[in-house]
Amino acid sequence: MKAPKFQYVRAESVTDALELLDRHGDEARILAGGQSLMPTLNMRLSRPEILVDINRLDELGGVGIDGDTVRIGALARHAEVLRSDIVKDRLPLIAEAMPHVAHVAVRNRGTFGGSIALADPAAEMPACILALGATIVVQSAAGTREIAAEDYFMGLYETARRDNELLTEVRIPAQKDGSVSVFMELSRRRGDFAIAGLAAYGTLSGHRVDEMRLVYFASEDRPVVGKGAAAALTGRDWSEETKQAVAEALEGDLDPMANLSGSPAMKMHLQKVLTGRAMDAAVARAGGAA
Ligand SMILES: Cc1cc2nc3c(=O)[nH]c(=O)nc-3n(C[C@H](O)[C@H](O)[C@H](O)COP(=O)(O)OP(=O)(O)OC[C@H]3O[C@@H](n4cnc5c(N)ncnc54)[C@H](O)[C@@H]3O)c2cc1C
Repeated sequence: MKAPKFQYVRAESVTDALELLDRHGDEARILAGGQSLMPTLNMRLSRPEILVDINRLDELGGVGIDGDTVRIGALARHAEVLRSDIVKDRLPLIAEAMPHVAHVAVRNRGTFGGSIALADPAAEMPACILALGATIVVQSAAGTREIAAEDYFMGLYETARRDNELLTEVRIPAQKDGSVSVFMELSRRRGDFAIAGLAAYGTLSGHRVDEMRLVYFASEDRPVVGKGAAAALTGRDWSEETKQAVAEALEGDLDPMANLSGSPAMKMHLQKVLTGRAMDAAVARAGGAA
């Protein structure tokens, strides 16, 4: 199918883009990498009146560091984030997760900001930034807002960003020295969207878990923090008994939705399996034998 008719405008500045968003409201869509937007237009799942192309706005790109905060510009391509030494050194969770995002061709065009703006429930980056306690920066003609990742993901493709707001950057606290992170997902083929997935970040002393944040994705309509599972881990040695307690707690944390990739029961099972594997890896990375 072909896309429905739309008006196309290339924004010459952020101010220009914000004015267009303000004027057209929910009839406008930002065009970033186009890797998700263009297929939805071609399948006629979306019919915006106007596309606002932000690809020439260099100020929205790049990866930088400001003290202990890594700043990823909305227009930074997935491939650029994957190559970034700052990300490798300071955000190993994202460095580990990024190769799971689609394939090389999609990563060359798709943007970090596009992934966070879209908020696909099976996407890797939303789960990672939630695990790391990031802040999402959005801008409108009225000013700038900073939204904690905890408050940002609100439902299926629904976020706290308003229609007239441009996502400009994501600020992510650098992972602390001595911390451990693990990213795992199950998908039918490498590069496909996940069937189940987990981003974990915390600290361990040998086998003992001091604290751990577990964020599950591809289960519900948004990434979900496993609070009960984390509580069942905290202050405990990672053992068969703890694994069992965490699996039971996860039943209270997650309410998986059925979709084409699996039933709720299957997704729950897979998330338990992933939690066990991720914690084995976390213990090994922290220097304990798994
Ligand atoms: C074959 C294929 C496989 C894929 N597999 C995966 C995968 O495994 N995991 C994964 O996470 N993704 C996957 N994707 C999606 C890919 O990562 C996209 O690049 C990403 O989701 C959206 O980024 P984009 O820059 O292409 O955004 P676009 O397609 O340009 O935009 C997506 C949406 O976000 C809005 N938007 C974009 N940028 C902004 C901004 N700065 N401010 C406000 N709104 C904005 C747009 O208006 C649109 O509604 C896949 C895509 C394809 C085609």
